[in-house]
Amino acid sequence: MPALLLDGKTLAAETEAALLARVERLKAQSGGKIPILATILVGQDPASATYVKMKGNACRRIGMESLAVELPASTTTETLLAQIDELNADPDVHGILLQHPVPSQIDERTCFDAIALSKDVDGVTCLGFGRMAMGEEAYGCATPQGIMRILSHYGVPIEGKHAVVVGRSPILGKPMAMMLLQKHATVTICHSRTQNLPAIVAQADIVVGAVGRPEFIKAEWIKEGAVVIDAGYHPGGVGDIELSALTEKAAAYTPVPGGVGPMTINTLIMQTVESGEKSIG
Ligand code: NAP
Repeated sequence: MPALLLDGKTLAAETEAALLARVERLKAQSGGKIPILATILVGQDPASATYVKMKGNACRRIGMESLAVELPASTTTETLLAQIDELNADPDVHGILLQHPVPSQIDERTCFDAIALSKDVDGVTCLGFGRMAMGEEAYGCATPQGIMRILSHYGVPIEGKHAVVVGRSPILGKPMAMMLLQKHATVTICHSRTQNLPAIVAQADIVVGAVGRPEFIKAEWIKEGAVVIDAGYHPGGVGDIELSALTEKAAAYTPVPGGVGPMTINTLIMQTVESGEKSIG
């Protein structure tokens, strides 16, 4: 039987229509105020610049504004922290996105953690992560939260299932594992020093590829009927999982492109609208 396509692109587009209505309502109720997402881009990395532009475009599609802050590649940690402080103090800014990665001379973790919890709509602070992991209110990290939204939308059962997350980065693997645990999955986290990776992946009811290597996770490792989530995106339109051989074997899968990627940006703007509603509404 063909696997169910977990269509993030369509879900994101449908959600945008609802977000547009929410922004319009907020605007009407508040005498013209709208949520604003501040984006910070440090340096000229073309991929990062493209991601920031896509996020700004998504804001505009739903009637929100983005405030683009662009800093030179030579920016110091202190300068970036001062910029974040300014945005934290600005009552018209409802969300702050610091585009990852920043140039190597900057202490990225310190800068992420300087973002006020109430404006951490990308879910990158240690405080937000800790609160999420404890089941307390916090904005989830955008990519894994977007994945959870796809799973929920398609009614994929999580409770009691064995989820294997391959990757343990702060913005993806670790929060992904915690979110699945919150939903009562039994979670295994794999990384570069994991032994017998194929055998562990073979046990997964839900497998999440967050490795950053093209088609690193092989279709033959994955058991029949598993739910396959591919967070990767590489030139040529391939992800971290060998998806082409899974469209019949898996129960469901996220395509690349059109799966996880659109949901990441969608989650970021959705959480900015939520922050705007809390502060303006
Ligand atoms: P990352 O920071 O480079 O982390 C990669 C993770 O993979 C690390 O935890 C690493 O383990 C693990 N890994 C590397 N080699 C491995 C191996 N041989 N076996 C098992 N694990 C291995 O990457 P990331 O930022 O999490 O991104 C992961 C993927 O998601 C990338 O393809 C990226 O493009 C994609 N991504 C997509 C979105 C989106 O919006 N769609 C957003 C973010 C990221 P160690 O910790 O041991 O080094």
